[in-house]
Amino acid sequence: MSLPEYRLFIGGEWVDAVSGATFETVDPATGAPWARVPEAAEADVDAAVRAARAALADPAWADLAPAGRGRLLHRLADILRRDAEELAVLESTDNGKLLRETRAQCLAIADHTDYFAGAADKIEGSVIPSGKPNFLVYTQHVPIGVVGMLLPWNSPLFLTMFKLAPALAAGCTVVIKPSEATPVTALELGRRIAEAGFPAGVANVVTGSGPAPGQALTAHTCVDKISFTGSTRTGIAVAKSALDHLAPTDLELGGKSANIVFADADLEAAANGVVAGIFAATGQTCIAGSRLVVHEDVRKPLLERLVARARTIKLGDPKDPATEMGPIATEAQHAKIAAMVGEAVDGGARVLVGAGQGVTLPEQGRFAAPTILVDVAPEATIAQEEVFGPVLVVQPFGDEDEAVALANGTAYGLAAGLWTSDVRRAHRVAARVRAGTVWVNSYRVLSYAVPFGGFGLSGIGRENGFEAIRSFTETKSIWVELTGATRDPFVLG
Ligand code: NAD
Repeated sequence: MSLPEYRLFIGGEWVDAVSGATFETVDPATGAPWARVPEAAEADVDAAVRAARAALADPAWADLAPAGRGRLLHRLADILRRDAEELAVLESTDNGKLLRETRAQCLAIADHTDYFAGAADKIEGSVIPSGKPNFLVYTQHVPIGVVGMLLPWNSPLFLTMFKLAPALAAGCTVVIKPSEATPVTALELGRRIAEAGFPAGVANVVTGSGPAPGQALTAHTCVDKISFTGSTRTGIAVAKSALDHLAPTDLELGGKSANIVFADADLEAAANGVVAGIFAATGQTCIAGSRLVVHEDVRKPLLERLVARARTIKLGDPKDPATEMGPIATEAQHAKIAAMVGEAVDGGARVLVGAGQGVTLPEQGRFAAPTILVDVAPEATIAQEEVFGPVLVVQPFGDEDEAVALANGTAYGLAAGLWTSDVRRAHRVAARVRAGTVWVNSYRVLSYAVPFGGFGLSGIGRENGFEAIRSFTETKSIWVELTGATRDPFVLG
């Protein structure tokens, strides 16, 4: 059977890669290839960047009033809402995420786009009391220019819209490079951007396998800003490459987030939150609550609940509404999870629940078992480094200081959950935890309106919220002399 074939979206046209090369993308639930996409190389990336550069100066975009950009984004939001089911199925096929989650995400991106559509004509500068009486001084926030966007495979469309909607609202033009593991939905998004009526070249999509197209994009001197979501290691390489031509870089990276459960917590709710944190999306989320920091007094009853729940999690076809954990998206990720758990066990960790220990894996597809590890030293790799899979490390504590020290005891700082019925403790600990997002008595909730990003190795910058638009602008200060007075030309005014 021939696979559906896609082309690159460059300058408003659908084109093959210059080389004519293609690659197959695989459905992780079956292991079978299901679509064929172009293998872009440097020449294709260069064509996409040039198209974006040309669109930036094209009056059809450059002279469009901010409200006009907003109208185009609202139209795109309507199209995304109309096609949410179709996109959700494609997304689930490409990355193995549960259809019920991709469905929620595909509806969420329509709301996300509407939010930034509404913001497009509210990007206000200010009049500055400069201390120079002869001058009127005001600021404008102008589009930063061409933005290169690099995406991971775990929530491709959702994370693309975190970048795309504010960048277009700000008046930028973009080149999107999705992950090689999940290239299809970015191209499908390109189709909908064209349908919404954005001028040619405002958004371009290039797909390719391996690091080469991403490297070509970050190194391209006509790219004015890089917005990257992915692993910390790649993020650092991307930032270094962009620095060679001084393109500012926003980085949304990995995490090793803690769910902190105090003795006064509602244990039923906490157990549910811990499950959401680590087993939802098969643990393949940057905000995975991969460490359970739990008070000694409730360790036993909480772990009993978690082990019982982990044993009953239904693994299988991500499109089956009964499935709770789908497959692991890539072969490399599958191997990495097994290697990290194996190394932890060799180092003395004990498996409370895992593959062959209370969990049977489906015979077909790439699956990983919900795994809970105890007796892990805080400095062990499994307690310090992101697994990006369904692996929970248990870290008991005796008092609040110890809980905070454990929670803050990694180089990451993306998210944290606090479970307590004491409102004073909730605010006190939330203030002390070094993380970009802290949920109190909840976990894994996001909104287009709420800033999201990390401390430390979890990244640089924030997405979402009105401020996200600012990250796609440069601030320009304009000085207007009001009196006609002549100044001493040899003295700084
Ligand atoms: P990755 O870093 O391997 O790849 C991310 C993107 O960069 C891909 O498009 C890839 O092709 C590209 N790339 C790879 N090497 C490159 C290079 N040298 N130069 C330029 N581009 C290059 O990440 P992944 O494995 O696709 O995604 C998983 C990671 O993403 C996890 O670490 C996860 O925590 C992180 N993530 C972070 C967030 C967040 O918002 N903080 C959200 C989702 C995922």
